[in-house]
Amino acid sequence: MGIAVSPQIHPQVAEFIDQPRKMLINGRWVNAASGKTFPTYNPATGEILAHVAEGDREDINQAVKAARNAFDNGPWRRMTASQRGRLIWKLADLLEQHTEEFGYIESLDNGKPLNIAKAADVPLAVDLFRYMAGWATKIEGNTIPLSVPYTPGAKYLAYTLREPVGVVGQIIPWNFPLLMAAWKLGPALATGCTVVLKPAEQTPLSALRLGDLIMEAGFPEGVVNIVPGYGETAGAALAAHPDVDKVAFTGSTEVGKLIVHAAAGNLKKVSLELGGKSPNVVFKDADLEIAIPGSASAIFFNHGQCCCAGSRLYVEKSVYDQVVEGVAEAARKIKVGSGLDPDTQMGPLVSEEQMNRVCGYLDAGLSEGAKAIAGGHKAGDRGYFVEPTVLVNTQEKMKVVQEEIFGPVVVAMPFTDPEEIIPRANNSDYGLAAAVWTRDIGKAHRMAEQLRAGTVWINCYNIFDAAMPFGGYKQSGWGREMGHDVLNLYTQTKAVCTRIA
Ligand code: ADP
Repeated sequence: MGIAVSPQIHPQVAEFIDQPRKMLINGRWVNAASGKTFPTYNPATGEILAHVAEGDREDINQAVKAARNAFDNGPWRRMTASQRGRLIWKLADLLEQHTEEFGYIESLDNGKPLNIAKAADVPLAVDLFRYMAGWATKIEGNTIPLSVPYTPGAKYLAYTLREPVGVVGQIIPWNFPLLMAAWKLGPALATGCTVVLKPAEQTPLSALRLGDLIMEAGFPEGVVNIVPGYGETAGAALAAHPDVDKVAFTGSTEVGKLIVHAAAGNLKKVSLELGGKSPNVVFKDADLEIAIPGSASAIFFNHGQCCCAGSRLYVEKSVYDQVVEGVAEAARKIKVGSGLDPDTQMGPLVSEEQMNRVCGYLDAGLSEGAKAIAGGHKAGDRGYFVEPTVLVNTQEKMKVVQEEIFGPVVVAMPFTDPEEIIPRANNSDYGLAAAVWTRDIGKAHRMAEQLRAGTVWINCYNIFDAAMPFGGYKQSGWGREMGHDVLNLYTQTKAVCTRIA
């Protein structure tokens, strides 16, 4: 079935991809009800990597039924918070023990460099689970003093309970397949929800392997169900399902709007983490030794396939040439290649479709008058590689400045007056992230206050932590993931009021 097993590939991964992978429903690995499978590709070669059971409406129905039963009747709800926390912690330990294997799966399925998957994706997922394991025992309500004298002399005890929202559908993208699964599963499990997870069709493998570890850790059957499949079928069925209490989605703004429509049928709760076109602002008083490599990594990390990528680079005019040339120089030096090659710094984009989309943007930008001072083209003659690209001569109204490219392409523009930069930086339908590089601490925090973005980085970029909330202003989303904010997405508050005198 899978690709010819090269000696480079981790033996357990070779074994894992050699057989068609099944879906996890009610604690059992099963084929799709239709019997269908779909291929997932190795983006470095364009060859089929593995075949995976193709979930559809009927499988989603079965998975939701299992999750409903696990929530309403299973041992999960009777477990103490501490027992739930320990299971999540155990999952983190198991994942950590399999770092090497998950690194290979991510690299093969998504294209990202193996070394980066092992150093970033897997440890961040492990840390997220540990952080959320700690929250399980700390989800508390309040006691509330009542003031209205309904009956003279009467006394009331009022308090709130924070209860799990119920059965949660989670739909995740392909850019950080394992990490996005962790961001979603961690808080759902900490709060006592049950889950149907649909990984992206481009990268289903790490979530499925995680399913093995979830069962090994000892989560009761039906608590986590994993149904791979396409967005228009399995994803849409999950978002619309009348017995799902909440849907959590990460992906494009376009599909986010479809999710909102689909959720309207039973008014399920919705949280969305969507696209971005994040401004990265470099002032002339910045430490350019860190601002230049920082700005390069802001866009090129994960091949630009980050919803928070620093894709609009604004540089104060007197240092514009130096900064932009520095970022271009960094782009030219990036070693692009197969994720399994230890020298590779940037792998292929995830799919042919994504490569074509990014190249379409490059063509549009160049035809509108932008100029590539680094990159500008597809790279290599097989696989889905695109050169790290810096576009100059760009104008605010251009498509490449307005729209999310989701690839290794930054647009650079100068500014003269620090006052002008806030409206320009905020001139976007998105508001996921922003960054400011300056040595002036007052200016940095004034900027942080005025930027309409869910995250503002000062003199750094792409710093994530399980304890730091992440999410979007404007059309970049609803709600915040991670930190204690995320608990609000997976719990609902019940007010309990008792007359005690
Ligand atoms: P991209 O365009 O970057 O591939 P998408 O937003 O299309 O990102 O995909 C993110 C996730 O949403 C994937 O798991 C995909 O299968 C799913 N998806 C796509 N279309 C729909 C839809 N109509 N309903 C529900 N999920 C969808």
